Amino acid sequence: MSADCIFCKIINRELDADIVYEDETVVAFKDINPAAPVHILVVPRKHIPTLLDIEKEDEAMIGHLHSVANEVAKKLKIDDKGFRLVINCGADAGQIVFHLHLHLLGGRPLLQTIAKGRGV
Ligand code: AMP
Ligand code: ZN
Repeated sequence: MSADCIFCKIINRELDADIVYEDETVVAFKDINPAAPVHILVVPRKHIPTLLDIEKEDEAMIGHLHSVANEVAKKLKIDDKGFRLVINCGADAGQIVFHLHLHLLGGRPLLQTIAKGRGV
């Protein structure tokens, strides 16, 4: 928990979000500014600022994060046509929220580039 982190506040229910999945280690909610018809953020409950900050003990959770993205993609019925998972890390990737998250994007054909946010 980091006091000034918006995703920690969503996880702790101090800030509203449209939560589509949660369990003991992971929460998934709709992105407030969606870049695609389906744009979900899959977030560990543990406050980890960036991918560079993961530790050995986080490896199982990182795997679980991907399994949850998979389950949410099925639940929101974008598994048949396909989807994209994105992790932004640091300034050049355009990371704006420093609490590790997976972007799950789908619901339309996505640009055939390795891109994020508005460019997908
Ligand atoms: P990133 O550039 O990877 O750090 O992306 C952060 C994402 O968080 C952006 O796509 C924002 O639209 C999204 N976001 C920021 N604040 C909120 C919020 N309160 N609820 C849901 N999504 C948010
Ligand atoms: Zn946080």
